[in-house]
Amino acid sequence: MHKMQSKELAVMAKRMYDNVPFYREKFKEIGFEPGDIKSIDQLKDLPFTTKNDLRDNYPFGLFTTPQSNIARIHASSGTTGKPTVVGYTHADLEIWAEVVARSLSMAGIHSGDTIQIAYGYGPFTGGLGLHYGAEKIGATVIPISVGNTKKQLQFMTDFNATVLACTPSYAAHLGESIRSNGISEKDIKLRIGVFGAEPWTNELRCQIEQLIKIKAYDIYGLSEVIGPGVSMECPCHCGNHIFEDHFIPEIINPETLELLPDGEIGELVFTTVSKVAMPLLRYRTRDLTRLCREKCDCGRTLVRMEKCLGRSDDMLIIRGVNIFPSQVESVLMEMSETTPHYQIIVRRENNLDTLEILVEIDEKSWSDSIRELEGIRRRIDQNIKSMLGISAKIRLVEPNSIERWEGKAKRVIDQRK
Ligand SMILES: [Zn+2]
Repeated sequence: MHKMQSKELAVMAKRMYDNVPFYREKFKEIGFEPGDIKSIDQLKDLPFTTKNDLRDNYPFGLFTTPQSNIARIHASSGTTGKPTVVGYTHADLEIWAEVVARSLSMAGIHSGDTIQIAYGYGPFTGGLGLHYGAEKIGATVIPISVGNTKKQLQFMTDFNATVLACTPSYAAHLGESIRSNGISEKDIKLRIGVFGAEPWTNELRCQIEQLIKIKAYDIYGLSEVIGPGVSMECPCHCGNHIFEDHFIPEIINPETLELLPDGEIGELVFTTVSKVAMPLLRYRTRDLTRLCREKCDCGRTLVRMEKCLGRSDDMLIIRGVNIFPSQVESVLMEMSETTPHYQIIVRRENNLDTLEILVEIDEKSWSDSIRELEGIRRRIDQNIKSMLGISAKIRLVEPNSIERWEGKAKRVIDQRK
């Protein structure tokens, strides 16, 4: 692996230097010629790439090859400004299908399965990314895309879907809809869920697995690196294996940019050594996690990344305390009275940050008795306070009152911005 990564890094650096002015300048700044790179161990001395660099070079400034060699273009809509554009050659698309095929196989999915892909098809990489990997393993594909819950349920039952691929928040919504539409358990053939595109906790996994009676797996990826299929959870559920023959991970301290040793939490950085159209050098993902290189119980030796704590962009600083939405989620999902839907609202009142959490209560726990509800509210209040270290205003809301998202859930409303 080390030998292969070293060889590929040298080839990639030369391709970048020869074809992309942005990278050529960066190499020159540190006095590096592509020929200087002999080993992957030198990666730590090379410059980083950020999302802003992608925006600054919009649309094709980081491509190493002319548009005539580009087979497909994907783009993710930024909340502000220009979208992030990524390009693929035919060879890149082949790598992508390969890593997604590996991911699906890792979860035990095979040619006999029928995969309902409820990720968005379009410029977003979720739908088409899963699609070609699923075709590659010979599975039956239902390219239903996102939304239209009624049709999702109809196809799921009539076409005997055995695998569901979508965001975990939408999976939770579909699970509830199966129940509320009175669909019998014997009409649901689902056995595996492949969920990603947003950070989610193990506690939410338990809730989804109870709702739909499936085994849920985390698929990780980001469009800048390739799309879904950068890493995947194995049946041991002890982190995601990274396909490090294509995507080389590092963990850095996001403040000092220093490389951190394995086992320490920091920002995940990827170098894509095999991609041709738009390789990335030390791309800062903003995702916070840690790496483990010990052999997994499943037998694989590929490096593992722990389930992401969240994106550093998602981190809320409230009254000086760092808070991740995932911490709130893990408290709420451990309680039997809550549904997988919640919302976090941050405000600034009289120069003081306030945190309010809307918690949706499930049908059977929703009560007319104020005393019962107050008991639930108080327990949530205490658990949140001990997890976060600060108190939050907890507001219980009725079943089905929080908006359901078909793609990525918008769980945080920061009104300070
Ligand atoms: Zn494993």
